[in-house]
Amino acid sequence: MIFENLADRLQETFKKLRGHGKLTADDVNATMREIRIALLEADVNFKVVKDFIKKIKERAVGQEVLESLTPAQAVIKIVNEELTALMGQTQSHINISPKAPTIIMMVGLQGAGKTTSAGKLGLMFKKQGKHPLMVAADIYRPAAIKQLQVLGNQIDIPVFAKEDCKDAVRIANEAIDYAKSHANDIVIIDTAGRLHIDENLMQELKSIKEDVKPHEILLVVDAMTGQDAVNVAESFNNDLGLDGVILTKMDGDARGGAALSVKAVTGCPIKFVGAGEKLEALEPFYPDRMASRILG
Ligand code: GDP
Repeated sequence: MIFENLADRLQETFKKLRGHGKLTADDVNATMREIRIALLEADVNFKVVKDFIKKIKERAVGQEVLESLTPAQAVIKIVNEELTALMGQTQSHINISPKAPTIIMMVGLQGAGKTTSAGKLGLMFKKQGKHPLMVAADIYRPAAIKQLQVLGNQIDIPVFAKEDCKDAVRIANEAIDYAKSHANDIVIIDTAGRLHIDENLMQELKSIKEDVKPHEILLVVDAMTGQDAVNVAESFNNDLGLDGVILTKMDGDARGGAALSVKAVTGCPIKFVGAGEKLEALEPFYPDRMASRILG
C-alpha cells in the first residue's frame, strides 16, 4: 500500500514520544531528524523536506509542545496540519466554465494513464448528469485513437476523432464546434503523449492551448515514478502552465513522494488520484484525508 513505509516509520517515531512526560528541545530535535529521514525515504523532494522540517520544528519547539502533558499528541497534530498544508490544504476542483462547453485538455507522457484518466473523468461527469465529449487529438498513434474509442463505447460517451487528419489544433477546434451543436457541455481533449518531454510535443500542446483556450489543463503523472513525476510536472507547468494534476497508480506500492511534493514544487494542486485500471477508479484528492492516512 502507498505510504505504508512512511506511515510505519512515523508511527514508530511517535510511539517513542508517547512514553515521555514533558519534552526537551533535544527530544524534539531527535524526532525531527527521524521525520526527515522517513520523508526522504518516501522519496519526497529534498527541498520540500527541508522546508517542511523547518516549519514543524519552529512550531514544535514552541510552548504548545514543550509545555504539553501529551507532547506526542501535540507533535502529531502539528505534523498533520503541515502535511495537509503541504498537499494544498483543501480539495481543488476543476474550473467549470459558466458558458458551456467547458474545455479540459489532458496532457502527459506516454504510459502515465492519460487516456484512461480521460475516460475516468468523462464517466465522473456523466454520473453528475453532464454530457461529455471526448476528443482523440493524438495524431501520431492510431492505437491511441482506437483506445479512446473503445473506452467511449464502454461508458457510452461520444468520441470525436479524425483518423486521417494530422493537425491536432484543427481536430480540437472541430470537436468544440461539434460539442456546441450536439449539446456536449464538457469537452475532454486527449492529446499526444511522448516517452520523454520534447520540444515538438510541447510546441504542439502550446498551439492547442493558444488556439482553443482550455478552461483546465490537467497533467497526468504516474505516482510510481516518484520524483520523476514531480520533475515532469515542473517542466509541463513551466512550459505550458497547468491548472492541476491527476496522480495515477496510487493503488500500487508507490512510496508516495510524488503526492507529497507536487504541490510544493510546482504550485499546482493534485485534483484527482487514479486508484486502479477500472474506469470508476478516480477519486478527488483530499489533502486532509491523505495526511490522516499517512499518520495512521
Ligand atoms: P497513456 O499512454 O498516458 O494514455 O496511458 P494509458 O491510459 O494507456 O494507461 C497506461 C496503463 O496504465 C494502462 O495499462 C492502464 O490501465 C494503466 N493505468 C492507468 N491509470 C491507472 C491507475 O490509476 N492504476 C493502475 N493500477 N493502472 C492504471
